Amino acid sequence: MILTYHRVLERPDPLLPSEPDAERFTAQMEVLATLCAVLPLPEAARRLQEGTLPAAAVCITFDDGYRNNLDVAAPVLRRYSLPATVFVVQSAIESGIMWNDLLIEAMRQATAAMDLSMVGLGSVALPPLADRAPLVTKLLEAFKYRSLQQRWDDARELYQRVAAAPPPRLMLNECELHCLVRAGIDVGGHTVNHPILATLTEDEARGEIADGADWLERATGRRPTSFAYPNGRPGRDFHAAHMRIAREAKFKLAVSTEWSCATRESNPFALPRVSFCDSPASRLAWQVTRSYLASWYRLR
Ligand SMILES: [Zn+2]
Repeated sequence: MILTYHRVLERPDPLLPSEPDAERFTAQMEVLATLCAVLPLPEAARRLQEGTLPAAAVCITFDDGYRNNLDVAAPVLRRYSLPATVFVVQSAIESGIMWNDLLIEAMRQATAAMDLSMVGLGSVALPPLADRAPLVTKLLEAFKYRSLQQRWDDARELYQRVAAAPPPRLMLNECELHCLVRAGIDVGGHTVNHPILATLTEDEARGEIADGADWLERATGRRPTSFAYPNGRPGRDFHAAHMRIAREAKFKLAVSTEWSCATRESNPFALPRVSFCDSPASRLAWQVTRSYLASWYRLR
C-alpha cells in the first residue's frame, strides 16, 4: 500500500484542513512503525513484482516538494527509521511556490471581499479565515484545468491585488533538496511544471517528464527511479503514452492517484495509492486494514 502526503504543517492551518500537522503526522508514523513493514518505494515496487513483499507492506510518499517535508516530516521519519519518497516539481523548486499555493496565500491575505469574476464567482464577501477553506477548494477547482500559463497569470494577478509582500517560499530549494537526499529520502520526478499530461501533445509531455528527470539528476547527482503523474488519475490525467514516456526516461516505476492498494496485477507504471493524511492515528490502523481487505477481496 502506497500512502500519499503533500505537506506536513508545523501547526494546524484553517485554510488547509486536510493536511496533517506535526502532532498528527507523528502519531500516524508511530502506528505505521508499530503495525506495518514500511519499505522504500523502489524496493517495494521490485518486491511486489517478485512476490516477496512482507505482510502489511507500506510505502510513504510526498508530492510536489514542500519545504516542510524536510523541516517537519523528515525528523519524524528519522525518529521511527521510516523510508519515504518525495516527488519533486522542478519549476516549484526554482520559483519557491506553486500556483495553487499562490491562490491559497492570496485568500489568506485578502481582507473583506475579493473580486473572483475571472473564474465566474463574481465579487465574494470573505468569511473569517477559519471559514474560508470551502472557498479555497472552489477556487482551486475553477483553476485546475486551465492552461499552465493562464493558471499562473491569474494566480499572480489575484495575489498581487491583495498582498503587499512577495509570496512566501513554501517549496524546497536546491540546497534543501540535497539535505533531503543526505537524509536518505528517495527523490522522485513529478515533471517540470506540474501540467495535466493528458492536455499536452506527446512531445510536450515527453519534455515535462524527461527534462524534469534530467534536471533532478543534475540537481541531486542521482538519476530518479520513481515518478508521480501530476493530478494522477489514470485515463483522465495520464494515458498509456505517458507510461511509455516515463519508462523511456529511465524511471523504474510510476504512481497514480487511483485510490487502491497496489497488487501483483498492478502495472508498475501506474501503481495506485491511498491517502489517509487527515485521519487521526486512532483510525489509521483500521483504514489500512480495510484497504488491504478490499484489495484482497477484489483479487479473489
Ligand atoms: Zn503534484
